[in-house]
Amino acid sequence: MDRTRYLVVGAGVSGLAFADWLRDDDYLIVESEEEIGGYCRTIKRDGFVWDYSGHFFHFRHPEIEQYLVERMGDQRVLRVERDSRIWYADRFIDFPFQKNIHQLPEAEYEQCVRDLRSRPEQKAENFKDMLYAHYGRGIAEKFLIPYNEKLYALNLTALDADAMGRFFPHVSVEEILRNRETPANDGYNATFTYPEGGAIQYIEALAQGVRTDRIALGERVVRIDLEAKVATTTKREIQYEALVSSAPLVSLFDMCGLAYDSSVFSHNKVQVFNLGFDSKGPTGVHWIYYPQRDISFYRVGFYDNIFGADRMSLYVEVGLPWDAVLCEDDRGAMKARVLADLQTCGVVTNQALVASHDVLLDPAYVHITTKSNAEAAAKKRLLAAQDVHSIGRYGSWTYCSIEDNIVEARQLAML
Ligand SMILES: Cc1cc2nc3c(=O)[nH]c(=O)nc-3n(C[C@H](O)[C@H](O)[C@H](O)COP(=O)(O)OP(=O)(O)OC[C@H]3O[C@@H](n4cnc5c(N)ncnc54)[C@H](O)[C@@H]3O)c2cc1C
Repeated sequence: MDRTRYLVVGAGVSGLAFADWLRDDDYLIVESEEEIGGYCRTIKRDGFVWDYSGHFFHFRHPEIEQYLVERMGDQRVLRVERDSRIWYADRFIDFPFQKNIHQLPEAEYEQCVRDLRSRPEQKAENFKDMLYAHYGRGIAEKFLIPYNEKLYALNLTALDADAMGRFFPHVSVEEILRNRETPANDGYNATFTYPEGGAIQYIEALAQGVRTDRIALGERVVRIDLEAKVATTTKREIQYEALVSSAPLVSLFDMCGLAYDSSVFSHNKVQVFNLGFDSKGPTGVHWIYYPQRDISFYRVGFYDNIFGADRMSLYVEVGLPWDAVLCEDDRGAMKARVLADLQTCGVVTNQALVASHDVLLDPAYVHITTKSNAEAAAKKRLLAAQDVHSIGRYGSWTYCSIEDNIVEARQLAML
């Protein structure tokens, strides 16, 4: 039987960051895919650079950004002033919607303000209530509810009021009203960074601190014996002292044979279509949100406007329920629908599609509720008492950024 002190499940940002910061050489990373990176992988095809889905970075810890960039050699990291918009009633509204209602047709603006002033004064029990309570009916029903229902692929009453945590761009009533006179949208992630070689560059920077002979690719952990501290993979048995997993928490439960209530741990899936065209489309904009229920996607991003390229290069995201099953024909039909909807919205006019790639992110956004938070925390404590640590966006069953993943993994490695 093989032995290691630290067995790491997954070579995404969390697993690699843990190994990179660990001050001990006795570790082994087991990754089921044939390459490192997890959801931060990048595809290069026919001159286009695409991530699994648009991955853009807003570092809050400058030392982490510097740590990564110093390892990236000649790689150019673009710093971009965000231009994100919402397609609404055949016009663009700046993001976030709630701050820019003055860009709506006048009658709709007045209705939103009336609703804002007379919004229900109640404690919000769930995400949908929170939207009504903070922003009133007009803002909630014109954008916040339809958009988020398309993204999460469920009724928003099923989510916690605080399901998006700091990722929800909250705005005060005063700011909303003031923004009509003095527009200022620079508060919410006004700039972002993106490496010319795609998100994988940050991963490769982390991997520089990890020994390649300690990463086993194409090997899946299938069972974990918590008592004996033995993991069974698709290739062998490995005895460990501590195990760090970045696999989705529910699959860790399965590996360990732990019972759980699957209705507590629900999530959506996101089907991503990366599309490359022969000529330019809309200029300037980096991504557009679509609240319309009859449009298949909830967001479209424009890599070409980040890179300053002369051929339109898109990522298109479609939210799906957790139990959606798509065969190849379904994906083909969905891609055809996406291309038709891109024409309806005026993104595609006479450009020809010359390259494409698609990937399903499953899970993509977990549904955060009081119950899921409590259950995840309790089960993580139980596992930690047996030297199994579940980390990462899906290992912690949460909503976070890759920087958060790095911070968490570093903390654990330095304990
Ligand atoms: C649509 C979307 C957009 C996003 N955009 C951004 C963004 O713009 N900026 C940002 O900072 N973050 C973004 N994120 C979040 C970011 O993708 C995650 O925070 C990050 O990739 C999580 O890394 P991880 O290592 O924790 O998990 P993962 O990337 O999921 O890595 C886990 C790894 O474990 C492997 N694995 C799983 N089970 C096993 C097993 N049994 N045995 C062996 N290996 C296993 C997997 O193959 C995978 O490689 C986005 C996420 C989504 C879904």
